[in-house]
Amino acid sequence: MKQSCEIVQDLLPLYADKVCSAASRELVETHLGECGDCQKKLAALRDTEFEERLHLEQKEIIGHQASRFRRTAFTVGSCIAGVLMIPVVVCLIVNLATGHSLDWFFIVLTALLVTASLIVVPLMVNRKRGLATLGSFTVSLLLLLLTCCLYSGGHWFWIAAFSVLFGLSVFFTPFVLGQFDSCPVIHGRKGLFTMATDTALLFILLIAIGFYVKNNAYWHPAMLNALVFSGFAWLLFLTIRYLKVNGLVRAGFSVIECTAMAAFVNDIENWILSDNVPGLRNADFSFWGWETFNANISLIVLLSGICIGAILIVCGMIRKKQNP
Ligand SMILES: [Zn+2]
Repeated sequence: MKQSCEIVQDLLPLYADKVCSAASRELVETHLGECGDCQKKLAALRDTEFEERLHLEQKEIIGHQASRFRRTAFTVGSCIAGVLMIPVVVCLIVNLATGHSLDWFFIVLTALLVTASLIVVPLMVNRKRGLATLGSFTVSLLLLLLTCCLYSGGHWFWIAAFSVLFGLSVFFTPFVLGQFDSCPVIHGRKGLFTMATDTALLFILLIAIGFYVKNNAYWHPAMLNALVFSGFAWLLFLTIRYLKVNGLVRAGFSVIECTAMAAFVNDIENWILSDNVPGLRNADFSFWGWETFNANISLIVLLSGICIGAILIVCGMIRKKQNP
């Protein structure tokens, strides 16, 4: 590169921005008239500048639109909240006028809070909208159950509350944990925490039911069934998530576990409930009557499961040997 080219190319950004002195501009223009290389450099510089400006303008437009959308959503949310306040005020006055105290008014209030949590909160909250909606919905629903329970003089609040929490937890715990994925304790252990939360809520719900029904015959079958079936869910979860083997071997073990559970379920229930439903021990392929039919099918399911599982495990081991 010629020395004059170096000087001109140093000046080009200032020239393109029209901020260089008249003497420099003259020098650049004279040089550009006779140097194709520097003309190309100037064109490239103008292209990049144009793209940068376009990108900046795009960002500005998107930001402007987003803030306009947020303002509109906030206004709509405020209007809906205002409309919801009308029945609250009317019911407050009517309840006070007719009963000289407040009772059923709280049912109206909490029912409208549930409505507001699903309609107003998503419109008015800007950050972690899903989490805020779910949280306010859960709290307002629990308050509604509490007011209804107190108003009707019932004792069912804890059962209803833990049923709601368990049901919501099964579907929404992974989503809630996903919002805190940056936390080092939770990161990479979402499944484990979801299983632990669901299991804890299931047992709390069963205990709440036990205290509600006040029947000693309840505890033994309820707790044993919950232990066996949640234990099975944990076994399957740990196999799929934490068994340090390849996918085929894991699939093999999972198939064997599932078919074993399906085959032994009647025997497990016989043991827990001291019942006498035909179990796997009744299997007899030489006789297909009503007392052996179920057992024969269960045994076929178990044997097929073991075969499929074993094939998957062997395939997985061969694959590991080929690509260690
Ligand atoms: Zn040049």
